[in-house]
Amino acid sequence: MDNCSLPEVTILPSATKVKEGGSLMFECHVSGTPPPVASWRTERLHSRHVFERRVMVSTLVLVLQLLEVSSKDNLHNLTCEAENQAGPGEDMVQLDIEFPVRILFLRKAERQHHWCFPFAVDGNPEPTIQWLYNGKELTENRYTYTQLFPDTDDGSVKHGCLFLNKPTHLNNGVYTMVVRNVLGHDQANATGLFMNSPADNFDDGAIPVPTNTSNKHVTESKESRLFVISVAVGLAVFACAFLLVMLVVINRCGQHSKFGIHRSSVLGTEDDLALSLRFMNFGTNPPCTEDDSGLSSFVENPQYFCGIIKDKDMCVQNIKRQDIVLKWELGEGAFGKVYLAECANLSPDSDKMLVAIKTLKDANESTRQDFQREAELLTVLQHQHIVRFYGVCTDGEPLAMVFEYMRHGDLNRFLRAHGPDARILEEVKMPPLGQLTVPQMLHIAGQIASGMVYLASLHFVHRDLATRNCLVGEGLVVKIGDFGMSRDIYSTDYYRVGGRTMLPIRWMPPESIMYRKFTTESDIWSFGVVLWEIFTYGKQPWYQLSNSEAIECITQGRELERPRTCPKEVHLLMQGCWQREPQQRLVIKDIHSRLLALVKNPPLYLDILG
Ligand code: ADP
Repeated sequence: MDNCSLPEVTILPSATKVKEGGSLMFECHVSGTPPPVASWRTERLHSRHVFERRVMVSTLVLVLQLLEVSSKDNLHNLTCEAENQAGPGEDMVQLDIEFPVRILFLRKAERQHHWCFPFAVDGNPEPTIQWLYNGKELTENRYTYTQLFPDTDDGSVKHGCLFLNKPTHLNNGVYTMVVRNVLGHDQANATGLFMNSPADNFDDGAIPVPTNTSNKHVTESKESRLFVISVAVGLAVFACAFLLVMLVVINRCGQHSKFGIHRSSVLGTEDDLALSLRFMNFGTNPPCTEDDSGLSSFVENPQYFCGIIKDKDMCVQNIKRQDIVLKWELGEGAFGKVYLAECANLSPDSDKMLVAIKTLKDANESTRQDFQREAELLTVLQHQHIVRFYGVCTDGEPLAMVFEYMRHGDLNRFLRAHGPDARILEEVKMPPLGQLTVPQMLHIAGQIASGMVYLASLHFVHRDLATRNCLVGEGLVVKIGDFGMSRDIYSTDYYRVGGRTMLPIRWMPPESIMYRKFTTESDIWSFGVVLWEIFTYGKQPWYQLSNSEAIECITQGRELERPRTCPKEVHLLMQGCWQREPQQRLVIKDIHSRLLALVKNPPLYLDILG
């Protein structure tokens, strides 16, 4: 159009910062031919405002005065628009209103992909966000972190979450959000209740009980704890009486031997972590196991006693010392030296047999009793994937146990000797058979699973399943070979609690670490770790972490990483063993049959690191 021009619109000043409650004045200068019609868009403005209109030569000036500026208008795009026959024109400034930070909401933790404490916070200048857990500073890390959601289209309000990855009841408590900017600060509390604390059913004060609960709730849980403790004491008294009766019956068994196992040799000092685990007392006090009916009893693997009672033939066999000729030392156990020996008169079919002899040094009355218990237990356990126990030798010193000889020693050493690092492991003297293949690993795992199916059928809880406690014989035959609880050569695999107790924490599920709960299901967890050991050629689980770090990882629900050589199917098995809820873990029968199927049909695997 001739003699026409689009409206020119300019807002002055172009940027203004003001504190909440202050006032601001903007001029919108509009020119154009023909003279445009112009206005401020104020329908979404929260701040109180007044207009003024001035005409200067060829320019129209629209004045907008904001009085008592509201923080709700922070980041608002203030727009002045004009229009004439040639078309529209506009200018825009963004309001920059400073105000003290405030939390609009902080809600209790809810489960999303991870657990999330949703929040919304608003403040200008941009606030910092900090968290407290039960009043103490919470350090953010990979597993606990704040994340803001971009583009929420909510002015300057920031929405976000405090995320927790797989929290446990140890993370239950009050989470306080503290926000600050130069103009002020704000804080709000929210509750995180991720899991019920089993401490309620066990040891008062052993695990910190969250402080977020109301007084009423605390009182209730104390009462219920008192009730549980009374029931437990009742059961304990009953169990002790039961144990006494059982021991009398066992003593009637003619060949009662006088051996004992020394379960812990070195005394250590108790640290903080040990204190919190103090109630886990392997060896020293019989732990709690659960029988079929779900009733707790205080007898260690009670079925073992039943076995002795039901079948009188199952009494420990005595082997004459004169029938044993020692050949050489095989290794050093926690209780004494282990020798290769020739033994006569063991079986009617052969004159002499190679055997492994475990000796007991420095036997005192209590270690003899332990030794005796282990001998009785070993006598009962008979299966092709449990190391064969022939009997004890008690005529003279040292006291000894006689086992079938497993040529390749313990499985952990065997795995290391047949892994990629075999050459650099100086200790390994056995001739290299080459690196183990996936089908061989599956074969090894299947055999241990078979032994575990047997133990589970007897309701026997092993409590220390690990490759160091399996033995390897001729033709890659693998057997579960050790039912003792401590080893000198593998002492770093155990965590010493309360001086005398050694715990294989790296093989233990959260409920065993936290509540000394050992069940067939906790053995399943350990079996998953055994699978991991096999597929890493004998690496120590969580080798990169200290004991306390490993405990933290396990109780927080972190999983061991998939080994390089591990097929997907096997990794799924491992994960099935590491379900946090014991009841959700796979059962050993299924694991066994799935491993057998994989042995028959070995899966293709991709080295996940390439
Ligand atoms: P402990 O359980 O008393 O600590 P171990 O069972 O660990 O004793 O024995 C120590 C070492 O002796 C093992 O690492 C293994 O190399 C060897 N050993 C034990 N039993 C046998 C066996 N039946 N056949 C061959 N070697 C064995």
